[in-house]
Amino acid sequence: MISGFPVYDTHVHLGRARHSGRSYGLEQAAADMDSEGIDRALLIPFPVVEDYREAHDLIGAAIAAHPARFCGAACLPAFLSSRERRAELERVVTLYGFRALKFQPQYQPLHPLGEEFHELASVAAELRLALVCHTGNGAPFALPSLFIPVARRFPELPVVLAHAGGSAYHLEAIVAAAVCPNIFLEVSTLMPAQVREVLKHVPSSRLMIGSDLPESRQTEIRKIADLAIPEADRRQILWHTARRVFDGEPA
Ligand SMILES: [Zn+2]
Repeated sequence: MISGFPVYDTHVHLGRARHSGRSYGLEQAAADMDSEGIDRALLIPFPVVEDYREAHDLIGAAIAAHPARFCGAACLPAFLSSRERRAELERVVTLYGFRALKFQPQYQPLHPLGEEFHELASVAAELRLALVCHTGNGAPFALPSLFIPVARRFPELPVVLAHAGGSAYHLEAIVAAAVCPNIFLEVSTLMPAQVREVLKHVPSSRLMIGSDLPESRQTEIRKIADLAIPEADRRQILWHTARRVFDGEPA
């Protein structure tokens, strides 16, 4: 809890990143959550890893050790066959109860309008996973509007736009969320004034927070906990939206 609000961090990378050398382990994550007042987190592999199954197993072990604190997202390397993608997603859902699939266009260069990406989304929808798409850096494939077609094609699939387009494209993220009721915005990297602008167009019941990196966590959470908006909206953004999207909490 932070300032009396339960907090759900929907963007925590666990494991070792091959592209950046960064690593973040379970013990450190759990200790940080304790000291920083984070109640629950969605664990996501880094986008480039040595072995994607191993990265998923690490998250699976974290969920098994602390089921109340963690849920998991899969992240698949760029050049797998559809059979390999489906097999791994079925494995992590069956074994670990993963709740999401992360797509990061800078590292998984699938065309967001293309058939291969839509096929991946259809497997996610079938397995009742949310699709978390990185947006912002990495444009044009990371432009928020490019996820409108997939959200329309699979209306039951929650599509979370991570970073809400970033500061450069947050207006486009607003449009995407305005035209698709199943698009959700994770508002990390937006400035507080931009979050307020988003709230003029998108209800708080479709916004959530994420830290992405441990050193950003306090900034990202405080910017919502301290924002001059109704308390009910802060509660949605810090906790309830993510509970509905990832944990199936009833609306
Ligand atoms: Zn990320």
